[in-house]
Amino acid sequence: MLDRKLSEIKGIGPRRAALLGAQGLFSLRDILYFFPKSYKDFSVLKFADELINGEEAVVRVRAVSSSKVHYIRRNMNMVSVKTEDARGNKLDIVWFNQTYRASQVPQGGYFFACGRVDGKKGTKMINPALCDSLPGIVPVYGSVKGITNKLITDLVKEALAAVTLQDEVLPEKMLKKYALMSKNEAVRIMHMPQSVQEIKAARRTLAFEDMLLFRIMMFLSQGVKRAEREYAFCVDGLYERFKAKLPFELTGAQARAIAQINSDISRKTAMNRLIQGDVGSGKTAVAFYAMYAAVENDTQAALMAPTEILAQQHFERIKTIFSEEEAVLLTGSMKKSERDRAFERIRNGQAKVIVGTHALLFSKAEFNNLGMVIVDEQHRFGVRQRALLQNKESVPHMLVMSATPIPRTLALIIYGDLDISVIDELPKGRKKVITRIVPEFKRDDMYEFVEKNAKAGHQTFIVCPLIESSEALENVESATELYKELKSTLKAKTALLTGQTDAAQKQLITEAFSKGDIDVLISTTVIEVGVDVPNASVMIIESADRFGLAQLHQLRGRVGRGDVQSYCFLLSSSHSESAKERLNILASTNDGFKIAEYDLECRGPGEFLGARQHGLDEFSAASLAMDVGVLNDAVSAAKEVVENSTKTEYKKLFALAYEKLKNKSDIAMN
Ligand code: ADP
Ligand code: MG
Repeated sequence: MLDRKLSEIKGIGPRRAALLGAQGLFSLRDILYFFPKSYKDFSVLKFADELINGEEAVVRVRAVSSSKVHYIRRNMNMVSVKTEDARGNKLDIVWFNQTYRASQVPQGGYFFACGRVDGKKGTKMINPALCDSLPGIVPVYGSVKGITNKLITDLVKEALAAVTLQDEVLPEKMLKKYALMSKNEAVRIMHMPQSVQEIKAARRTLAFEDMLLFRIMMFLSQGVKRAEREYAFCVDGLYERFKAKLPFELTGAQARAIAQINSDISRKTAMNRLIQGDVGSGKTAVAFYAMYAAVENDTQAALMAPTEILAQQHFERIKTIFSEEEAVLLTGSMKKSERDRAFERIRNGQAKVIVGTHALLFSKAEFNNLGMVIVDEQHRFGVRQRALLQNKESVPHMLVMSATPIPRTLALIIYGDLDISVIDELPKGRKKVITRIVPEFKRDDMYEFVEKNAKAGHQTFIVCPLIESSEALENVESATELYKELKSTLKAKTALLTGQTDAAQKQLITEAFSKGDIDVLISTTVIEVGVDVPNASVMIIESADRFGLAQLHQLRGRVGRGDVQSYCFLLSSSHSESAKERLNILASTNDGFKIAEYDLECRGPGEFLGARQHGLDEFSAASLAMDVGVLNDAVSAAKEVVENSTKTEYKKLFALAYEKLKNKSDIAMN
């Protein structure tokens, strides 16, 4: 009865049903898979002298004073009580704006308090919950507006009671082979775990099933065979003619990638290749070759960039290979008349190479014999979007470029069946970017350095995590504030660029910065992807701990592209050990693959890839914490299932995959 509607459940009126519905929770089944966002580990009792500042912990204490209410200021009061544990260690407990707590503290007997430890020596507990027994591991559900955690917990219990054997889809044999638990067991554990180990094992099972289903869905929608084109490209002499147009010698790695592309496109089967290469490794030149090959074979080539700035930049650079008449740019900020003319030139085939943003090219353009699609910075482009593209009337070759090195198995899951070229060599003469973690008291020295850098004719990027300052995140630098400050204090020409800057202005600023008319560009991560300003030599990242490692490495890659020595300065006011360790990794190596490996190990693939940004949002929360091992298992299980699709033991799996696929109207089916 998992399909029972929430609105039919006692205690859920239309208002609550609507609030739950807004989060995609309609049935008990949805509740069952609404997994906790995190857990609090209150399974190990601590004594008050073992508490560490900042941690969440549970203690067993008794009150040694009565509770007092203090009025601190308007809208702020505090309840405090002195307690001690069985060993006589003292602990103050305080609650803010919870006056009712004063009467709740048991007088005399021991009770359990679980909450955050605060105070320099860890002698205070703030806003704890009070319990009669050790709470164990407590699930924390993502907040649903207007719905209490308690109601969710009650609904979860109801859902768990409604689970039946029918909900198991993996055959017993498979569970054994891959050391998985039953799905019902896994789901139960996610909601009511006994230990952290258990949660890990449960996630592994759920991730396995998710991945397996996803692979089967891909199979159902795309088949196992790659699409065939009408004719193979002729590549005779292309490479030589292309090389002659370039202002530099290709690196060995670039040449190898091009050779692989040549061998792909001289077959009728559509190419599906991922180019992985660290920032600055020169992926664009390889992409340009693929476009050149397409045009020389009388087809159109489209290059999709994730941002307007990048589209613009690619378009400028593409003119070294193609003529003005052949190339067309398509961005959201173009005037409507201009854009319509661009669309027309694409439709009638006058435009041979088309550069534009994902959104525009993907949804609006009608191509005239599209032979090559290049997707830059692939990991921002969803699986579904890609599937759709390949289902347009022609069958283009597909080349995707990514600066995120990911293991092959993970690539398989995210991108489907594809080949990979790795560009593991930087162009000659590149100097390593020197990375330093800058303590706050050296901030002024750093600004002096920036001024000197400007005098010497080089540019500086300053990246902030926020556009505007926020009360919730007090110590986090905002681009707007910093700009206000530096505009008047820094002896250099500054400019501000954020997601809110309008498109025309954005373009002006980007151009001025590239030309050197602006010395210091203060921005948010709008510059993250791909912007190429060889003359920029300093990258400053504010509140660096707020960014993922992969992202920091990407940002750092914006400098060190020219011949001058470049620097990356990381600022952070975080005291967390793991944050410090992450920044140290970055300071210790320039090798994107090493950094990615570390990131992957520490945070799991979901986090590492920035989960929401691309295909992975099709998976439930369970898969976001999985290890790479389970991916390998799921891929080999999927192979087995697909090759034996008629076996009755797989019937349920196929039925479920088919059902899911049907609900995704945006994946086309064969
Ligand atoms: P990414 O791989 O990060 O996309 P780009 O393709 O933007 O890197 O290349 C970074 C910079 O290196 C560009 O300025 C580009 O012109 C230059 N470049 C690319 N290949 C070479 C090469 N073989 N020799 C010298 N410079 C190169
Ligand atoms: Mg690039």
